Amino acid sequence: MAPPTWLPPRAGLFGERAARLRHLAATHPMGAWLRAVAQLCDAQQHLDGTLGPVSGALSELPVVHAALVQTLSEGEGRALAQGLTLSLDALSERAQRLLAYTHADPDASGPQDRADLLLGASLQLLFTAVARGTPVNPVQSPVPGEQRCPCCGSVAHAGVVLTADGKAGLRYLECSLCATRWHAVRARCSLCDSPREVEYRGLEGAHPSVQAETCDACHGYVKTLFRDKDPHADPLADDLATLVLDVLVGEAGYGRAAPCLLLISGGPTQV
Ligand SMILES: [Zn+2]
Ligand SMILES: [Zn+2]
Repeated sequence: MAPPTWLPPRAGLFGERAARLRHLAATHPMGAWLRAVAQLCDAQQHLDGTLGPVSGALSELPVVHAALVQTLSEGEGRALAQGLTLSLDALSERAQRLLAYTHADPDASGPQDRADLLLGASLQLLFTAVARGTPVNPVQSPVPGEQRCPCCGSVAHAGVVLTADGKAGLRYLECSLCATRWHAVRARCSLCDSPREVEYRGLEGAHPSVQAETCDACHGYVKTLFRDKDPHADPLADDLATLVLDVLVGEAGYGRAAPCLLLISGGPTQV
């Protein structure tokens, strides 16, 4: 049987991500920061499934965002939400920039501050709900070589090579916005579709489940997670825990192509 072309966002996605972040934080030099992001994912999980039918229109975002800020304010993540109030105009302007960023617009910058981070989390929540409500329709499958999410059109934050359920060894890219996964053959660059051999670069002796897939045709890279090396590896959590790999690959001359809505551009210490 042919593997599924795409997989909808999993139930429990945000909670699993929070647990993974906490697990990684235990031995990580930036553990406090990873735990702060875990609190954001906890709030996303708390609200996931409570939104009802949504279309993804930006007019729906203020309600989602207010609920996320409220949830954070009432829990362990209250420091993240403290003192943050955005006017509707500011919220809409920032959301449009962040959506352009996940759609790989080269002129759009990613999260710049804590307000952007919370908004990025709200956008993920909204669009994950949209993706869950989208019926599986082969017409929406990605065209070969067009590496965009079949549900929302964003690009991936990372790829994951699966191990089970008839999908062992297959690579799926995971959407940076709605967490839909779509199948992408492993022999080709997921950025430029070049059939030239891609190379894998990892951190020597550490975090073997995460490799940067570098391409000498487009000089870009995307991280790939190997679930056979760690069955709990998560595209967002493990990406955040391996930023040192980005530095190494960047020094080797490759540019990061993958957006991440829960990472402030200037680096984690700004959270
Ligand atoms: Zn998507
Ligand atoms: Zn390429």
